[in-house]
Amino acid sequence: MSPAPLRTLDDLGDVEGKRVFVRVDYNVPLERGEVQDDLRIRASLPTLTELLDRGAALVLASHLGRPQGEVRDDLRLAPVADRLEELLERDVAAVSDVAGEEAVAVCSHIDAGDVVLLENLRFEPGETADDPELADRLAGLADAYVNDAFGAAHRAHASVHALASRFEQRAAGRLLQREVEVLSRLLEGPDAPYVAVLGGVKVSDKLGVISGLLERCDALLVGGAMAFTFIAAGGGDVGRSLVEEDRFDDVREAQRTASARGALIQLPEDVVAAPEMSVEAPRQTVPVNAIPSGQMGLDIGPRTVEEFARTLADAKTILWNGPMGVFELEPFSSGTRGVAMAVAGANAFTVVGGGDSLLAVKRLGLEGSFDHLSTGGGASLEFLEGKVLPGIAALRKEV
Ligand code: ADP
Ligand code: MG
Repeated sequence: MSPAPLRTLDDLGDVEGKRVFVRVDYNVPLERGEVQDDLRIRASLPTLTELLDRGAALVLASHLGRPQGEVRDDLRLAPVADRLEELLERDVAAVSDVAGEEAVAVCSHIDAGDVVLLENLRFEPGETADDPELADRLAGLADAYVNDAFGAAHRAHASVHALASRFEQRAAGRLLQREVEVLSRLLEGPDAPYVAVLGGVKVSDKLGVISGLLERCDALLVGGAMAFTFIAAGGGDVGRSLVEEDRFDDVREAQRTASARGALIQLPEDVVAAPEMSVEAPRQTVPVNAIPSGQMGLDIGPRTVEEFARTLADAKTILWNGPMGVFELEPFSSGTRGVAMAVAGANAFTVVGGGDSLLAVKRLGLEGSFDHLSTGGGASLEFLEGKVLPGIAALRKEV
């Protein structure tokens, strides 16, 4: 059974003259007090401008880094407020506490069109503890609630979970709405063939998503270091490649699930191997189950790229998460590039997720070549696993 529909800004009702608490994801890289990448700030603008156009005053809140319940000057949100001010082209008042005296004083005097940014939510120990007392204090700052922080939706933290239930008027912002719509399409009746490509370092990071995908996809292509655990579990010799022996049983289980459903698990046939992870190291392309001892597989090889591309060319729905090799080093980036191009070129609904995968897409200049780039990281994976995410469940209509 599919879950109840999400409450969106279309369901929020009248916010004219009201204070709307908007949980945003401004967990951006800072260096020397400056925002290094403002993608997440820009991504919040559609929701913010829509609410401002509807006559709301905004109380914005985000976490930044991991201050673990303590005030850390290097993790204050003031630089974010500066950048937001430029992008919104209106004043943004940065408050120096989360829900303390200053926040209360400022938020009790705001009017339509005003924008306030609270201090880093994680300066309050109650945030990660889903503390009801913190939720009450935050609730006192506003009249309605919007969550647009998909990246935090899998956490039962006060600002995404306990807080939501304090408001009659509550909804998902446009960014969160889009993530849920796209990822739901992958969970509920994706157009077949549905092909998933997984890569990255560890099987153990992605076990949940592997089993979630194997219930739904027609083919699972496995690259990256993850593939070596599959190969080694099947008895292949993978030299010094990364292998998680304690995951052999899980991998075999995945293979049984796949064959019971008639889904294909496609593994690399060849790999680029080298004695160490460096650009200078001599490298060679070898069959995946005959990696010379002392060497490790650091990218999928050209034959594998061709085989993966063949499967991708027939797909109608594609999910890609995780690089095919150590793409950060040029000599081991061809596999990731090849798969990225094959996904981009397929006549399919295409979704890419994962922090490193998005970085790879950006480096390749392919950002515009997919239907959706999922910004969620852990949240995207848990969603695709079929889990109920606390921050999303709180915004469904039945709740
Ligand atoms: P994402 O963030 O997209 O979910 P992961 O964090 O799971 O991806 O994995 C990304 C990392 O995996 C990259 O830093 C890349 O260098 C590494 N990686 C991929 N293939 C290999 C390999 N064969 N050996 C070692 N590391 C690898
Ligand atoms: Mg990563």
